[in-house]
Amino acid sequence: MRDFGATPEPSGTARRGGSKATGTGVFVVQKHAATRLHYDFRLELDGALLSWAVPREPSMSIGVRRLAVRTEDHPREYAEFHGEIPEGQYGAGNVQIWDRGTWRPVGDPREGLEKGHLKFELEGDRLRGRFILIRMKSRGAGRQENWLLIRERAGEVAAPSVSRVRVQRTSPRPSRKQPSRPDADRSNERVSRRRTS
Ligand code: MN
Repeated sequence: MRDFGATPEPSGTARRGGSKATGTGVFVVQKHAATRLHYDFRLELDGALLSWAVPREPSMSIGVRRLAVRTEDHPREYAEFHGEIPEGQYGAGNVQIWDRGTWRPVGDPREGLEKGHLKFELEGDRLRGRFILIRMKSRGAGRQENWLLIRERAGEVAAPSVSRVRVQRTSPRPSRKQPSRPDADRSNERVSRRRTS
């Protein structure tokens, strides 16, 4: 238990309400230099923050898996927290906001959470686009819930990008070199991915 007289962390309760409308909520990733550095990945749902501890930095590369260990829900106000959790307190160490923004579930997030298959879109500074959290089958006796956080290719391909690809294929401009790596130029990412797939 946290001693809220001794830590600057917000002390609100993390009780999720029953039937709040689903829409856009806040997401935050807190870089937490505790005994082991990790990234606390949190999604607001029904007034609380669903939480996972991700040992390695979340990746924007499609298909790269990041272990995400489910942790207790945190109060909504915790999304604002950064600073020092004092020595002797649970999770002692520095907390920085690594990314934040909004998330939008794809489908019913409560059902997704239950089934261990939660799809969503992120709109942050570092993390953007379609992601999925998948619960792995638990191994051994541990109560720990292991999930994987993975960036996914978005399902929809807008028609205009298809025609752009065609134009680029048939009439390349000699003066403009293509980026050497498909992801070198983010603005070109969707087109590049289509070309290489
Ligand atoms: Mn943490």
